[in-house]
Amino acid sequence: MHPTIRPQPGLLDIALYEGGQARVEGVSNVVKLSSNENPFGAPDRAREAFTRAVHSLHRYPNTDHLSLRQAIGEIWGLDPARIICGVGSDEIIHFLCQAYAGPGDEVIHTEHGFLMYKISALAAGATPVCVKEAERVTDVDAILAACTERTKLVFLANPNNPTGTMIGNGEMARLAAALPPQALLVLDGAYAEYVQGYDAGASLVEARDNVVMTRTFSKIYGLGGLRVGWGYGPQHVIDVLNRLRGPFNLSTVALEVAEAAVRDQEFLTRCRNENARMRGWLAEALADFGVPSDPSFANFILARFADAEEAQACDAFLKERGLIVRMVAGYGLPQCLRITIGDEPGCRRVAHAIGQFKGVRE
Ligand SMILES: *Cc1c(COP(=O)(O)O)cnc(C)c1O
Repeated sequence: MHPTIRPQPGLLDIALYEGGQARVEGVSNVVKLSSNENPFGAPDRAREAFTRAVHSLHRYPNTDHLSLRQAIGEIWGLDPARIICGVGSDEIIHFLCQAYAGPGDEVIHTEHGFLMYKISALAAGATPVCVKEAERVTDVDAILAACTERTKLVFLANPNNPTGTMIGNGEMARLAAALPPQALLVLDGAYAEYVQGYDAGASLVEARDNVVMTRTFSKIYGLGGLRVGWGYGPQHVIDVLNRLRGPFNLSTVALEVAEAAVRDQEFLTRCRNENARMRGWLAEALADFGVPSDPSFANFILARFADAEEAQACDAFLKERGLIVRMVAGYGLPQCLRITIGDEPGCRRVAHAIGQFKGVRE
């Protein structure tokens, strides 16, 4: 630490976020199953929009994101005036913390919740509060019991990463209704498109004035490298977040490619169906090898091993074979590995290798 020049309190408590590993030294032909990316990449229409955008690189982007917000509104049946677009949903999470939480305030996240909630809370000078889950499932009563008059934000990913579990609409509504009056509920729907018929909390946003929903183009739309996400909330919240948002936070390329992607409904349906098929297959294959997982609603499964040592050994075994999965000790799950649902060859390779690993250990 510098003797006289000091950052704001809380900043040095932030543990840097580490993305999923992408390479193994000395191994070619790796399968990356560590970042919940879409194995099929981006939709064709998005790739075409990317190519077209090369002609307007010298132009500043528009500042109101109107065309993208209208497209999102049209597809999901939402009011474009209450949508805000950001550099990934990470930026929306960041705005929410900057806007609503500061020194002395508490920000609730769940035991195995997404690490960005804690990071953004600390960046705002607020105090993150970790609430226990019930066997890797969000526990609404535990969250309510943790609320105080200092609670400003409650972050809940549904389905959750890295557990893959989710709670129902009734539980979400019960949570929203029972929060203290100064607290905002943030429903993170990064994986919502993988759950057929699930509105990610949109109707709860419509019905109340204390619920915000966040969404992303990084997962099912296959655009993690582009960095586009969005939020939907009551007008009073969106009006505040827009004051924090840089006018040019999204590039012309990002805006145009994301718009093409959201309009490709057929791509979404195809990816959701294929994900469900391979997720079921992989979970069953691993269970047959003695590696259980909770029923997952997302594009990954959380494989449970006997203990942390076995999970680590399996991770190393997979890596040697060019299979990169995610260790989740940082999420309080040292005995687990999170495995993204790849394409069929990817799923077969990882299942085969885990079978070998278990065989060798017996
Ligand atoms: C991947 C993920 C996101 C998406 O982050 P982006 O910044 O939009 O890429 C948000 N929340 C959760 C829980 C995630 O797993």
